[in-house]
Amino acid sequence: MGLGSFFKRNKKNKIEEVVESHIDINSAGCDGCEKCSIACPNNVLILADDIMSVRDSQVCKSCRVCVAICPNDCITVN
Ligand code: SF4
Ligand code: SF4
Repeated sequence: MGLGSFFKRNKKNKIEEVVESHIDINSAGCDGCEKCSIACPNNVLILADDIMSVRDSQVCKSCRVCVAICPNDCITVN
């Protein structure tokens, strides 16, 4: 579990702001197949001690590729 974020450009004053997203991994349903971590284009997820974890939430772009590929519906990204 952890917080993800991405930068969003404000066209009016060109200030970048961080938009937070939240990654939840249901470890009880996770079988450690690593499909999510392999598919993630930003290397956000990592298997640690047989538990899928968030390695670096700051680089998550909320693309939800991990959500789509998980065979056990373990991941939610808000
Ligand atoms: S939402 Fe996208 S960037 Fe974020 S962890 Fe999932 S696959 Fe990676
Ligand atoms: S794809 Fe789903 S079941 Fe596989 S390691 Fe990721 S969270 Fe666990």
